[in-house]
Amino acid sequence: MENCLFCKINRGEIPATKVYEDDRVFAIEDINPQAPVHLLIIPKTHRATVLDIEDNDVETIGSIFSVAGTLAKERNLDRGGFRVVLNCGAGAGQSVFHIHYHLLGGRPLNWPPG
Ligand code: 5GP
Ligand code: ZN
Repeated sequence: MENCLFCKINRGEIPATKVYEDDRVFAIEDINPQAPVHLLIIPKTHRATVLDIEDNDVETIGSIFSVAGTLAKERNLDRGGFRVVLNCGAGAGQSVFHIHYHLLGGRPLNWPPG
């Protein structure tokens, strides 16, 4: 998508600290971290929200969780716990309309989230 922030980051048009990349997904440091570890895991194919996920995206979406586990271990979050969060829609706090999974950890995480 021409004017999408995460598509632009994927194309290298906007800088970001990339911490992981494969054929299907990439991960970056969040610019405004809400926890000591706050990464965004992002499918390369543009999908605005969960509501736009298609049947042939299933492998990509599944791979997000294996990437999340790998990154969580790399950041030593496997013992203390971490959260993988996807906000869907403005009412749930989504501000960038290209699906992304927040990987948060390194501090106690309250439940339920606000
Ligand atoms: P959302 O609110 O849509 O669930 O999450 C969007 C996330 O993207 C926020 O946590 C926000 O801090 C992050 N973000 C917004 N703009 C940028 C940017 O230009 N670079 C990076 N690395 N993160 C961004
Ligand atoms: Zn996009």
